[in-house]
Amino acid sequence: MKILVFSSQSYEKPYIEKANADTKLDIDFIEAPLSKSTAILAKGYSVVCCFCADHLDKDTIILLREYNVKLIALRMAGFNNVDMQTAQICGIKVVRVPAYSPYSIAEFTLGLMLVLNRKIHRAYTHVREQDFSLKGLMGFDLHGKTVGIIGTGTIGAIVAKILNGFGCKLLATDPIKNDSCVQLGVRYVSHEELYRNADIITLHCPLLPATQHLINHDAIDMMQDGVMLINTGRGALIDTKAVIQGLKSKKIGYLGLDVYEEEENLFFANHSQDIIDDDVFSRLLTFPNVVITGHQAFFTHEAMTNIAATTINNIVEFSQGNVVNEVII
Ligand code: NAD
Repeated sequence: MKILVFSSQSYEKPYIEKANADTKLDIDFIEAPLSKSTAILAKGYSVVCCFCADHLDKDTIILLREYNVKLIALRMAGFNNVDMQTAQICGIKVVRVPAYSPYSIAEFTLGLMLVLNRKIHRAYTHVREQDFSLKGLMGFDLHGKTVGIIGTGTIGAIVAKILNGFGCKLLATDPIKNDSCVQLGVRYVSHEELYRNADIITLHCPLLPATQHLINHDAIDMMQDGVMLINTGRGALIDTKAVIQGLKSKKIGYLGLDVYEEEENLFFANHSQDIIDDDVFSRLLTFPNVVITGHQAFFTHEAMTNIAATTINNIVEFSQGNVVNEVII
C-alpha cells in the first residue's frame, strides 16, 4: 500500500517518519497541495494523506478514483475541504484525526485574547523602537467579563475551563450541552442572547452549511460596542466583509483570527516576496486592533505527535480491512 502525503512541510515530516518507524509504511512526501491540477501525482498510490490546504472538491475526488485511490487520510479533525458526497459515491473512504490536542487550540485562543486586550503585539514593536511610553496600550481585566463561547465541544469546553480560571462569566451556544461546562456554571443561551451580552465572543463550532457566515451583519449588529471577536475555528464562520464594516464602525473593538475564509491561497506558505491580491485580507491587516495568525493554533509538539500517530494508525487499520476514525456524513 503506497501512500502520498500532499502539502508536506519540512517540520511535520520527522513526526510522520517517527510514527512510521515500526510500521514501515511506504510513504512519499510532496510539498504541493492536492487539487484538480495535482491529482495526477496520486497515480500509483492507494492512499493520499491530506491537510487543510488540500482541495478535495468533486473534480479532484473523481480523478483520485480514476487513479485507484482507496483512502483519503486527513491529518486533521475538520473535513470541510472534502466533498464528502463525491467521496462516498466514488467509494473512497475518508478518515481523520478527530482529536490531537484540543489544549493547543484552546490555549492559543486565550493567547489571542490576551495579546489583543493588552496590546502585546503593539508593545513588542514599541519597545524594539525604544518607545517605553504606555500611551495606547491600556487593556481591561478579563476577570468579571462575559465571554460567549459558540460551540462547547472538545475545544470550546477547555476554553471555558481556562476562562473560568480567569474569573470570567461564561455564556455558550451549542445544540448539545456539554456536562463539564454546565458543571462549571456556563449558561447556555440563544445565539442572540450571547451576541447581546458578551464582551468577548469566541468561535469553536464546525464549519457546516448552517454555520457558514454565522457571524454576519445581523449578528454583528446585535453585539456590544467594542466587542472582541476571536476565531480559531474555521475562516468561513465569519463573513469577513461584514467584520471589516464592524471594525470600521468600531462595533468590533478587537479581532483575533487564526483562520480566514480565503486562507487556502495564503496560509502555510511564505508569500513575503509576493504582492497579495486579496484586498479583503489586505484591509484586515491595516487595523491596529486586528491580530491574524496563519492557522497555527494546532501547532504544538504534542499535537504534531498525536496527528502523526493517529494518521499512521488509521492507514495501518485500513490496510488490515478496518476503517477507524471514518468521516461519516
Ligand atoms: P467538536 O466537534 O468537539 O465540537 C464542536 C461543537 O460545536 C459541538 O459540540 C457541536 O454540537 C457544536 N456546534 C455545532 N453547530 C453549532 C452551532 N450552530 N452553534 C453552536 N455550536 C455548534 O469540535 P472541536 O474539536 O471542539 O473543534 C471545533 C472546531 O475547531 C473544529 O470544527 C475546527 O473547525 C476547529 N479547529 C481549528 C484548529 C486550528 O488550528 N485553528 C484546529 C482544530 C480544530
